[in-house]
Amino acid sequence: MAQDSEIFDKIIERVKVLDPVNSRSWFDTLKYKNFNGGQLEIECPDPQSAGFLQDVCISSFTLAAQQITGHLVSVKFVGGNHQDKTSRPAIPLKLHPDYTFDSFVVGPCNRLAHASCVAVSKSPGRTYNPLFIYGTVGLGKTHLLHAICRETTNAIPNAKIQFISCEEFVNRFINAIEAGTLAQFKTQFRTVDLLVIDDVQFLRERDQSQEEFFHTFNALYANGSQIVLSADAPPGEIPTLPERLTSRFKCGLVARIDPPTHETRVAIVQKKSKMRGMKITDDAAEYIGSKVKANIREIEGALTTLYALVGSNEQEITKEFAKIALGDKETSDRNITITDIIKAVTAYYDIRPADLQSKKRSQSITMPRQICMYLARSLTSHSLEEIGGHLGGRDHTTVMHACDKISELEKSDEKIKSQLNELTKRITK
Ligand code: ADP
Ligand code: MG
Repeated sequence: MAQDSEIFDKIIERVKVLDPVNSRSWFDTLKYKNFNGGQLEIECPDPQSAGFLQDVCISSFTLAAQQITGHLVSVKFVGGNHQDKTSRPAIPLKLHPDYTFDSFVVGPCNRLAHASCVAVSKSPGRTYNPLFIYGTVGLGKTHLLHAICRETTNAIPNAKIQFISCEEFVNRFINAIEAGTLAQFKTQFRTVDLLVIDDVQFLRERDQSQEEFFHTFNALYANGSQIVLSADAPPGEIPTLPERLTSRFKCGLVARIDPPTHETRVAIVQKKSKMRGMKITDDAAEYIGSKVKANIREIEGALTTLYALVGSNEQEITKEFAKIALGDKETSDRNITITDIIKAVTAYYDIRPADLQSKKRSQSITMPRQICMYLARSLTSHSLEEIGGHLGGRDHTTVMHACDKISELEKSDEKIKSQLNELTKRITK
């Protein structure tokens, strides 16, 4: 009905106002499907975008639908053609809809890595195997791995794909041992067409899982299945990885990603702004590109700050506006200390500072500790080493890993996102 789709368009417009940070220009391709028994069904272009909306945007869509219709409405996202059941891996593929080849800006710093990822996704197992991508944090490794999985799913809809972070691989392995389900674990990982493991530097120091990884690798390789790995350093420089593993990693293609040049950074600012449907002047993009250098994730952070501040897609972001908005943040940062952050986090989660500094590894302590590291990283200018030092003498890789993990959770987990917002509010007050 024409009327329904008009209302639907209004809902989408309202979502953009309510949640500019997570809104994307592809929301315009969402379609009204059905409205029945108080439930609004929204048709998504593919299962990945449906998953993203369900995880990240459900509350803003629900609120928008209720505001526009004036009724209590629930929202359901239905997505594209799902993979058929028999080929679906045990861990569902959770791909970020922003992380595609289209949205990846290619420059001299990442040309080889990008080209090899495209090649692998076109004919998995037949070009570079294994493919090993490395570079420091925030340079697009995870982005490229998601893009490979998405492209392969599109090209070969029945391909069995397993995408997993190394940490999760290790955790699942340990759980399988405890639950006595090692056989299932082995089948699950050794029978796929494409295995993608992110951040393999976290494999070290965990002997049994390393052994399992070695055998999984060999089984897949012998089968002609594609293996793609990422890490923060080249195979030979990952401490404590045994030679027999690093020599396996090196037998395919090893591609490095370097920090982006100024031109690439500016192009990324422009691309990301466009994806969010925001207008930005060229000199504002230049300014942000010159300000944020080492880690592209910071570009994303800067854009999020700006978008939250402009509050409307209609207003163009100018250089002056960006200067004030981002400059302000920097000056207020100087006053925040790690002690402030520890105080706020321990009060919020009702734990003791000594717990944060202890070796305790229970979830109720680990999560606040990682949140502390993440907040210290984003709100102060302390180095990873210094932050680790304040939190029980942990090394910089532990801090880096915590920051990565929380920043991923901030995107995918509503609860964590609102906890981080609240904590940031209390700390910067
Ligand atoms: P890594 O896994 O190497 O730490 P990510 O893949 O998480 O880095 O990237 C961090 C952020 O930077 C993501 O939002 C990603 O989309 C973005 N990014 C990195 N490189 C590029 C690029 N070349 N083009 C567009 N976005 C990029
Ligand atoms: Mg990553």
